[in-house]
Amino acid sequence: MRFATQLLSSRAFAQLHNDVSTSNLGHAYMLTSSDVGAIEELALLFACDIYCKHSLCMEDDCADCRKVLSFGHSDVHHIYKNADKKSITVDVISKMIDISMLTSYEGSTKMFIVHEADLMLPQAQNKLLKTLEEPTPNVCIVLLVSNPATLLSTIKSRVRSIALDYFEPAVIKDMLTGDPKRIAIAVNCADGSLTRATDILGDDVYISQFEKVVQMLCRLKKSKDIALISSMDIFDKDKILTTLSIMEIVMRDFMLINLGDDNLAVSLGIVDEVKDTASTYSIESISVIIDKINQARQKLAVNCITANVIENLLFSFLEVRYKCQ
Ligand SMILES: [Zn+2]
Repeated sequence: MRFATQLLSSRAFAQLHNDVSTSNLGHAYMLTSSDVGAIEELALLFACDIYCKHSLCMEDDCADCRKVLSFGHSDVHHIYKNADKKSITVDVISKMIDISMLTSYEGSTKMFIVHEADLMLPQAQNKLLKTLEEPTPNVCIVLLVSNPATLLSTIKSRVRSIALDYFEPAVIKDMLTGDPKRIAIAVNCADGSLTRATDILGDDVYISQFEKVVQMLCRLKKSKDIALISSMDIFDKDKILTTLSIMEIVMRDFMLINLGDDNLAVSLGIVDEVKDTASTYSIESISVIIDKINQARQKLAVNCITANVIENLLFSFLEVRYKCQ
């Protein structure tokens, strides 16, 4: 398990553990986070907590923990989206409900973990709703959800809803090992997500794109720089959206650097150059520029020509910086 340490000390796990340890297990839960990898592991930890006879030992020689963690526990069922990878249809949920009616093999509770439950089609949700209204005894349904808005409010009102909080940068930093510069970038761009942090750490393309965006912003001084800068590969059609999101992160970093956060300057690269560049942006100009980045994103979404959008955006950086001095 990649994130066990971090998850065991999360508020979400404490809530689940409290239900297990006080024998107050709900018949249905909704675990929410955009960090899909982390909530999947959270559900497994919850299952270990329910089935382990040695207070959640997670040891290899504990048959219960081993079976749960290797997806081989006969009372822990995993429900996945259909083979088309786009949705969970009513057949999948009906089959799950049929199985839930059978008696359990090993423990007293049967658990159903529905992965990406926000992909349930309306018919599937209605089918599930009937079960939630009249729960089967000793059955615990766990919905893993990244976007709760897609679920019927009637479902949400019948489950115990537990949101996994974003992880603090310090927690993410402690989890990662390797090159300090890469770690700094991963922590900075992870948005509190453990999965995203580990993905970025191993993603050479993203790391190099991040470094190029920082270099680009340091190089952008006068309008004559724009022609050269806008031909960089970070503005290619397939990279532009990532570049815009990195630009937004770096602009926020500039604001923090101006407020005295020297650690961030280190993660961004050559400290003096980054500090000098950051100092040319006032707090006021940074918030205007972040708006401009969002406008560029909207223009690209309606298929405006990428080169024009980029040129306008880079000009607006210079203009806003000048006006807000
Ligand atoms: Zn165990």
